[in-house]
Amino acid sequence: MAELRPPIESGAPDPMPYMHPVMVKNYGKWAFHSHPKPGVLYHRAESGDEIWTVKAGTARQMDHYTIRELADIADQYADGYVRFTARSNIEYMVADGSKVEPLIKALSEKGYPIGGTANSVSMIAHTQGFLHCDIPGTDASGVVKALMDELYDDFVKCEMPNRVKLSTSCCEINCGGQADIAIIVQHTKPPKINHDLVANVCERPSVVARCPVAAIRPALVNGKPSLEVDEKKCICCGACYPPCPPMQINDPEHSKIAIWVGGKNSNARSKPTFHKLVANGLPNRAPRWPEVAEVVKKILATYKEDGKPWERMIDWIDRIGWPAFFEKTGLPFTKYHIDNWRGGRYNLNASAHIRF
Ligand code: SF4
Ligand code: SF4
Repeated sequence: MAELRPPIESGAPDPMPYMHPVMVKNYGKWAFHSHPKPGVLYHRAESGDEIWTVKAGTARQMDHYTIRELADIADQYADGYVRFTARSNIEYMVADGSKVEPLIKALSEKGYPIGGTANSVSMIAHTQGFLHCDIPGTDASGVVKALMDELYDDFVKCEMPNRVKLSTSCCEINCGGQADIAIIVQHTKPPKINHDLVANVCERPSVVARCPVAAIRPALVNGKPSLEVDEKKCICCGACYPPCPPMQINDPEHSKIAIWVGGKNSNARSKPTFHKLVANGLPNRAPRWPEVAEVVKKILATYKEDGKPWERMIDWIDRIGWPAFFEKTGLPFTKYHIDNWRGGRYNLNASAHIRF
């Protein structure tokens, strides 16, 4: 009998084979940890074993020359062990304290900034963008690069009240998740439908089911099966575009960028929160997104000056209140910040069924 093929595992792999041997040996048996300097963490195990973690920023989308360079540094200073964080930082684990400074020197000389730990601004969580996703309204890599160039000092120094997590999302589906400051594409017009293509490309019932406000209906246009959008209901979310590209919503003029603040995934000290809109209608202007950088820097500077030690962005806003947030940051509070849309009661999908 033919030998059965072993199943192909998918999802997160078992981390143990990739972990530094000192970490495997002392797994779950750490006595304490400290933060000797920006970008460096120190852990001591109950056994007395020690390990240092050195964190450096990377570009996330890397060519193989860069990956080889980072791997060579790991072989030389960190026994060949590295890991990448969710925010595209690379971390080297070093069991020999005398190698920490040479490792930092080697990384710095190659242009990798050391930082992103404790109360610094970590790298921006980076969505897939044009490289791997089919629906972006802007380029995630570009926004991350442009902004981190501006925030370099805040990455390598620990001068914020608490850690700051930023994210970008190149469509409104927002796979970047919740963050202290989130930079998200904002469509401001309903999709334009190319009726000649709908029947050939789209599965119309799936597209109709996809709309969260039931704004899409099947329709016959020029004798061909197509779709129509009730523009009064449409909230310009872009959810119909992935299953039906002829419903084009990306627009050079009307796709803008919005900034949201106060999101938090962790439940350390206070509960997780959703971020809230504070700036909208910013131009989606590659390659440096200057208007977006200006608003992000303004929010960070105000938080840095006004936040108390260990207050996360949302803790600070909760303490001072939203009116004071707008006053202190100088951001205009407009009618677009008020969520007065009442259609949800009648239109939002309220059933417990999961649809794809
Ligand atoms: S934010 Fe949207 S466009 Fe960007 S990678 Fe995620 S799902 Fe794709
Ligand atoms: S953009 Fe969103 S709300 Fe508008 S039609 Fe498409 S799915 Fe519906």
